[in-house]
Amino acid sequence: MSTISILGLGAMGTALAQTLLRKGHTVTIWNRTRSRAEPLAAAGAKVAESPAEAIAASELTILCVVDYAAARAVLARAEDALAGRDLVNLTNGTPGDASEFGAWVAAKGATYLDGGIMAIPPMIGEAGALILYSGSPALFERHRQALDALAESRHLGDDPGLAALYDLSLLSGMYGLFSGFLHASALVTSVGGKVGDFLPLLLPWIEAMSGTLPDLADKIDSGAHHRNVVSNIGMQKIALENIVRASEEQGVASDFIEPMLRLAGRRVAAGRAVDDISAVIEVIRKQK
Ligand code: NDP
Repeated sequence: MSTISILGLGAMGTALAQTLLRKGHTVTIWNRTRSRAEPLAAAGAKVAESPAEAIAASELTILCVVDYAAARAVLARAEDALAGRDLVNLTNGTPGDASEFGAWVAAKGATYLDGGIMAIPPMIGEAGALILYSGSPALFERHRQALDALAESRHLGDDPGLAALYDLSLLSGMYGLFSGFLHASALVTSVGGKVGDFLPLLLPWIEAMSGTLPDLADKIDSGAHHRNVVSNIGMQKIALENIVRASEEQGVASDFIEPMLRLAGRRVAAGRAVDDISAVIEVIRKQK
């Protein structure tokens, strides 16, 4: 069993601390607002008076606050305590945030691992929770048992920004799904339909379309967007135009679907109407 300090006791930090306590680890906690530490103290956690005291108390420190401004504010009060310590940062941010913060932490003499939590607080410590990590592989291996107590742990590579990149990429896939669901629901309810009645049609359709992703992934990885195309982008652009026109007819905002139409339209305008929808990625990449 390990000694672990948790800095930040919001909804997520509290779930991390509760889980580690429940699984038999020795847990030290610190939070800016001290009252949030009280239920955990009653459950057996030691309360540190400062971030520096918490870092000094344990083999591993996990930082989980609302954003990077807060993360920097917390560690600014503990700079001198960092040398020789192991720090895992589970605060959500961009790859650039993680790389910059990781370099700052390393310059203070600590070993750094960044993480992206693919779970909500009640899932921590339960089956189905996943935490993506990147940064020091040595730290990851040293504390593997404690990290595995929180969720399935996946180390993506040495670059501290990778976990944030993959975390946000998974969220991007999720928001694509949510935006399609909301737009479809607006269309159906524009004629008095119930979303609950529409779901038995939508869910199997999404499942069937998810089955085309391996083929699209193969086309993206190989660049062969024109190979074995059954639904070319020229035809799909017309379907996208029809969705926009139907939205206008029904008095539904077409904001979610218009960007996809514009991107597909650019590929068609470039003379590539024969390609699969996977070719939209070439237009997205050119936005850089
Ligand atoms: P909460 O809003 O519940 O808690 C925020 C925490 O940040 C509190 O401990 C708060 O301290 C602290 N904080 C805010 N500003 C400062 C500051 N300037 N200095 C010191 N501490 C500060 O957020 P969560 O716990 O839900 O989220 C924490 C991280 O986990 C975020 O990066 C979030 O994206 C990530 N996450 C959360 C998920 C969720 O579903 N909740 C899911 C996946 C990731 P105080 O109590 O003093 O205000």
